[in-house]
Amino acid sequence: MQELSICESIVGVIEQQAVAQSFKKVNMVRLEIGPLAGVEIEALNFSFDVVTRGSIADGAKLEVIALPASGWCAPCAMSVPVKQRFDPCPTCGSYQLQITGGDELRIKDMEVD
Ligand SMILES: [Zn+2]
Repeated sequence: MQELSICESIVGVIEQQAVAQSFKKVNMVRLEIGPLAGVEIEALNFSFDVVTRGSIADGAKLEVIALPASGWCAPCAMSVPVKQRFDPCPTCGSYQLQITGGDELRIKDMEVD
């Protein structure tokens, strides 16, 4: 399950930050996730609970901010919203879309003590 390893790396980042900024507890972690990141939010929440147990982020709340995906349509010469990879352009129906965003997965910020 890739959500598990995602959470493991998130906790790794948090623990690095804890050392760098000398905080002792994490109350909430806010993630930004694009629809093309291929992450299942439910699985992510579950994995986060499992992985953070006993860590500095034990009991922390996970908040997910869903980012929109976008692509560049060559025929339209403009940026258009995309729901998933390989979708046609919603304006002209062309498949010549170049995905320009939506696979983000990053920690936006966190609340710490
Ligand atoms: Zn188009």
